[in-house]
Amino acid sequence: MRHDKDEVRPARAHALLFATILAFASLAFAYTSSGAQLAGAKDLPTADLAIVNARIYPAPDAVPIDHGTVLIHAGKITAVSGSSVRIPVGADTIDAGGAVVTAGFWNSHVHILAPTLLHAQDHSAEDISRELQTLFTRWGFTTVFDLASSLQNTNTLRERIRTGEVTGPRILTVGDPFFPAGGTPIYVRQFLQDNGFPSEEVALPATAAARARRQLEAGADGVKIFAGAIVGGDIGVLPMPLDIARAAVQEAHRAGKPAFAHPSDARGIEVAIESGVDVLTHTAPEMGPWNAELVARLRAHRMALVPTLTLFKVEMEKKRASAQEIEKTLGVAAQQVKIFSRSGGQILFGTDLGYIDVDDTTDEYRLMSRSLDWRQTLASLTTNPAQRFDGGGKSGRLTVGAVADLVVLEADPARDITGFAHVRCTIKDGRVIYRSRDMAPR
Ligand SMILES: [Zn+2]
Repeated sequence: MRHDKDEVRPARAHALLFATILAFASLAFAYTSSGAQLAGAKDLPTADLAIVNARIYPAPDAVPIDHGTVLIHAGKITAVSGSSVRIPVGADTIDAGGAVVTAGFWNSHVHILAPTLLHAQDHSAEDISRELQTLFTRWGFTTVFDLASSLQNTNTLRERIRTGEVTGPRILTVGDPFFPAGGTPIYVRQFLQDNGFPSEEVALPATAAARARRQLEAGADGVKIFAGAIVGGDIGVLPMPLDIARAAVQEAHRAGKPAFAHPSDARGIEVAIESGVDVLTHTAPEMGPWNAELVARLRAHRMALVPTLTLFKVEMEKKRASAQEIEKTLGVAAQQVKIFSRSGGQILFGTDLGYIDVDDTTDEYRLMSRSLDWRQTLASLTTNPAQRFDGGGKSGRLTVGAVADLVVLEADPARDITGFAHVRCTIKDGRVIYRSRDMAPR
């Protein structure tokens, strides 16, 4: 979650945001009814699945395979080939019709906060599955990293997905975030109160360490600190004291998990660097262009960056900024992504969906294309997050032995970057979890 430091979000605005999400969700449902099918029990993994006649991009740096076949057995990839492959008798077959097939996408910055997901025990499996499709799987996301939500609720949701009752992506989560004392961001105060969230502020290193430990033991996959919390008023951005940031980050690292930071400004980035944070959850256009010296420090600390460019556009449009002002901000963010990436920094695709209500990823790809080519963008969706969060290896690529997470695209992103947003079919663990209507298996 983030917000521009000078914006004050009144209590009403959050209710409005969620009303908008609801309205948007019902629109999306209308689309779902006519344009797509919700994957259900009939899609439970069969022994074998074959995707034939595909243009395969096995990995961002690999040579494409035309007229290729991907074979899947029991949730794992058993063949990726351009020559003839014997398809097992009884295998489900998907004819890609020459369409592009890549590894499943990651969205490395989302929030499990949409109304249907926020009270995961109170909604039907069908409603939750539909929401997860609208938000994530229809855009090709087989894995999402939730960067602040209620850990208890997200665990409930994950359990319903794990058992197969609910159809959705793999969800990693940091659970409840860490705010500095007096640093609950102005734009979430009312929301947290309305939903009965406990205070997430920490005043002492020992308190931060204890809660981080508790959350990690309860299943959190990392910690998220607000290294710079937007509190508004005269203070603007409140940096987290370094000893508190370090305490939380160290617990994550002790558990072998990543630490994320919401930077907001230069001081927030400083706290993130000095506390050992692994991932900056946003660019920081408010602080102006990044220079080589700052980027060298970020690189020396092996930090990754999630651009969240659409977020800045949405926030500025909300403030009725002029087209020139928006363009200027997006230009600075693009500069930060470009200089960071060019110096070898790792970019992770992420949109802050759940804070913003834009589920369509088209804008993010367009904005990223100012700084990255399509292969770098594919890496931000697949191999980069797999390396960062899943130990790398075969994860994030289409190769024999890898988990069968795949996306079939309508259009080739090598020709038009927005092809990444046109998904025909999403497969997780060898199971079809989303397909557009014209992509029914035969
Ligand atoms: Zn966020």
